Amino acid sequence: MAELIKGITVLGATGSIGVSTLDVLARHPQRYRVVALTANRQVERLLAQCLTHRPLFAVMVDEAAAERLAAGLREKGCETEVLSGVAGLERVASLPEVDYVMAAIVGAAGLPPTLAAARSGKRVLLANKEALVMSGRLFMDEIRNNGAELLPIDSEHNAIFQCMPQHFEQGLDTVGVRRILLTASGGPFRSTPLDALEGVTPEQAVAHPNWSMGRKISVDSATMMNKGLEVIEACWLFNTTTANIQVVLHPQSVIHSMVEYADGSVLAQLGNPDMRTPIAHALAWPERIDSGVGSLDLFAVARLDFEAPDLARFPCLRLAGEAMDAGGTAPTILNAANEVAVEAFLDGQLGFTAIAPVIEKTLEQMSVREADSLATIFDDDAAAREIALRLTRHHSLGVS
Ligand code: NAD
Ligand code: MG
Repeated sequence: MAELIKGITVLGATGSIGVSTLDVLARHPQRYRVVALTANRQVERLLAQCLTHRPLFAVMVDEAAAERLAAGLREKGCETEVLSGVAGLERVASLPEVDYVMAAIVGAAGLPPTLAAARSGKRVLLANKEALVMSGRLFMDEIRNNGAELLPIDSEHNAIFQCMPQHFEQGLDTVGVRRILLTASGGPFRSTPLDALEGVTPEQAVAHPNWSMGRKISVDSATMMNKGLEVIEACWLFNTTTANIQVVLHPQSVIHSMVEYADGSVLAQLGNPDMRTPIAHALAWPERIDSGVGSLDLFAVARLDFEAPDLARFPCLRLAGEAMDAGGTAPTILNAANEVAVEAFLDGQLGFTAIAPVIEKTLEQMSVREADSLATIFDDDAAAREIALRLTRHHSLGVS
């Protein structure tokens, strides 16, 4: 039993991870207190969440949305204070009454408040993998230098952490680990004929066979860029290189990843595919609490299949590995170009099979630099977005 109630900020409360987090928190009112909730512009959902959880603060990034939220809260007699903008996000990530910050904003927009949480020494529950991918070493340095604690929410990394509970800083060799086996479902197009991929629609791409997630990560799962970002995420979290990470296709999504030790032992973490398990694990660690997730029915699962990933089918997975190996700002550029290409795809402006070429060409057109300051990272992020946007327009006009 925790001695003190922990104060929590949920960044990205209205999203898929945010909603699952609030579900777990509501099961343990004696352990956790919601201090702040944030969203981009979904006023109705954040209003309902504020009425249920009564946080001290709510942040809407969008100014007009913040005003509407404040009016709605006043009408209901709720005293939650409303803030806006990125400054509001950073403030609620570093409040003294906050112990834990759930970083569940999607994309690069999550980096500033997640860094603010690291700088103020919080327990950072990291779902927002793009923040770590784009700023790599600097992000890890902020965690270390400020006495913050980083716990992975991404189901694979949480699984690896559970199979290797020694702290991530130590590196694989020192804890006797030979390699990480990072599992992937392969998404909805694992066995779609290659020539049918060109006509894939956003609706087909976001229909993940095993997980219910936000739209951007669902597209990333369909291209397997999600797994590519996760390889990069694992390199930083577990202080290793791509050479020690093997991606394993496992269509049932029951094993969430594995760790192979020097003596040949392979440890796996299994469970129903429900993000409340890693969320509850990271919230309570090193204790265990109920997450609301039911028992795994192994008889219903019956079998577990494994395949090697096909890099010709999933060029994004190859591009991510190459970017990590190239180092410097290459992962920053990869992430930014991917965000632009995925948004264009979701808007019907770019074909599914054009996502990888946009990213690859953006990487070709930029020179990778040492990622030695946040200014450099934000510069290269912005420059990559501009190039990717231009390439996206060319693609949509049929120019190659
Ligand atoms: P989502 O789209 O469902 O929710 C995103 C949240 O971020 C929303 O609350 C939204 O209001 C907020 N947001 C969006 N743009 C913003 C901006 N510009 N500024 C501030 N806030 C903004 O996404 P999700 O599926 O919950 O994923 C969130 C993060 O967690 C992503 O980085 C994703 O890769 C990661 N993740 C998600 C899952 C999953 O199962 N959904 C699993 C592993 C990792
Ligand atoms: Mg994952």
